[in-house]
Amino acid sequence: MNILYDEQVDGALPDVDKAALLQALHRQWPDLEVLHQLEELKPYECDGLSAYRTTPLLVVLPRHIDEVQGVLRICHERRVPVVARGAGTGLSGGALPLEKGVLLVMSRFNNILQIDPEARTARVQPGVRNLAISQAAAPFGLYYAPDPSSQIACSIGGNVAENAGGVHCLKYGLTVHNLLKVEILTVDGERLTLGSEALDSPGFDLLALFTGSEGLLGVITEVTVKLLPKPQTAKVLLAAFDSVEKAGRAVADIIAAGIIPGGLEMMDNLAIRAAEDFIHAGYPVDAEAILLCELDGVEADVHDDCARVRQVLEHAGATELRQARDEAERVRFWAGRKNAFPAVGRLSPDYYCMDGTIPRRELPGVLHAIAQLSAEYGLRVANVFHAGDGNMHPLILFDANQPGELERAEALGGKILELCVKVGGSITGEHGVGREKINQMCAQFNRDELTLFHAVKAAFDPGGLLNPGKNIPTLHRCAEFGALHVHHGQLPFPELERF
Ligand SMILES: Cc1cc2nc3c(=O)[nH]c(=O)nc-3n(C[C@H](O)[C@H](O)[C@H](O)COP(=O)(O)OP(=O)(O)OC[C@H]3O[C@@H](n4cnc5c(N)ncnc54)[C@H](O)[C@@H]3O)c2cc1C
Repeated sequence: MNILYDEQVDGALPDVDKAALLQALHRQWPDLEVLHQLEELKPYECDGLSAYRTTPLLVVLPRHIDEVQGVLRICHERRVPVVARGAGTGLSGGALPLEKGVLLVMSRFNNILQIDPEARTARVQPGVRNLAISQAAAPFGLYYAPDPSSQIACSIGGNVAENAGGVHCLKYGLTVHNLLKVEILTVDGERLTLGSEALDSPGFDLLALFTGSEGLLGVITEVTVKLLPKPQTAKVLLAAFDSVEKAGRAVADIIAAGIIPGGLEMMDNLAIRAAEDFIHAGYPVDAEAILLCELDGVEADVHDDCARVRQVLEHAGATELRQARDEAERVRFWAGRKNAFPAVGRLSPDYYCMDGTIPRRELPGVLHAIAQLSAEYGLRVANVFHAGDGNMHPLILFDANQPGELERAEALGGKILELCVKVGGSITGEHGVGREKINQMCAQFNRDELTLFHAVKAAFDPGGLLNPGKNIPTLHRCAEFGALHVHHGQLPFPELERF
């Protein structure tokens, strides 16, 4: 089902002699695993955004850096596009393959190379799962803070490429704030080190530039992250509300009171019920919204902060307030939240997860507007999200087998993202732009800003061979989408059309 696939990209790419490419790869690397039969390629045709599907030309599964380097060089010589893939859990179609391109799967690079408890760092290969880093660091009383809900499966390479976030990023920062160094291979196979183990490095901050670049600038081959000491204690409060707007206001009130929780998450009634049915977390199923607020640190501070947050929540109109009685209940409260996406997936044949960020003060109004849009489009929307960051995840429920529902879901998602931009927010908080949000980039950025993005891309990858068609829209696309003004049928920068 290629319903949402944009033919503009593959259609514009030159044809590739698949047999010759296969032969060249095998000649240089006889042991390199290359998948080329249709039935072998099928499992790789999408990432976590399964409405977008394309069968790749070839899938390569290297085990050694030399092989990755060789694949990049051969593809570069033959001008074959390359899409890097980690665990394939991305939700914006970032690892969506190309019919005329190679999918470079980095999941076999799954070794933890070093845990240094004194420097509090971990040096790992890009295919290592996010959670595996914290598990390896646990014997030293350390952990890796950014914790996407997909952490059991997603890879650190994918996290760097998407600048992934998670429940604890409100207090501890996103991936970019917890990175020290990455090793990359450029499009023509040159090895580069970005960042260092020092707090700052001379020159431009290329590490920050590279983080979140969605596989467009290079292939990550090694990552050094910061580790943090495990907090002495963590307590979680669950507050129920009789309206989503009140819960939204309470979020802003907590931060305004000068408290930065370890995590501050919100779920609306549809999400609460779904999670409760699935996980039995002990959520109040009649509440219109719940907040989960975790406070962590040293015992005395956490005790005081819990008391202050309780006051704020009561003042904000919480109808019920509970503190997890023990560690088992705390874990259960979080399990409901962390499994909310699959739980919502049980309510409907398909769901479409949006990812927009707004200023916290706009939460009540935007939640209200989403409810109105949901009624207007006739599709249910469940909200479960990183409220403290203002990072919303409306989950649009639909049935792809019903004619027109997928397109309606996509249109509704687009409206929600444009709403985020309108109130001063962004079209992505952590899931990236990928293929999914490429049109909304035209609403977020103006012509000059997009031109600058293309120039950065061209500095790393002049031929546009790494993950083309993702993340940065052509000005042509923006003109078609209607966000850029076209004078007399002329694009402002026709030379940029090739990207
Ligand atoms: C149930 C569920 C919950 C989720 N919750 C969260 C959440 O809380 N927070 C969050 O941020 N995300 C979340 N995600 C999205 C996803 O897990 C993240 O975006 C994650 O970072 C993707 O990692 P991955 O290894 O699966 O990457 P992939 O999906 O394989 O790839 C993602 C992007 O990274 C690029 N890439 C991958 N590896 C490399 C490499 N070695 N070098 C260069 N580029 C590379 C790809 O080209 C692609 O553009 C969730 C997903 C699911 C399914």
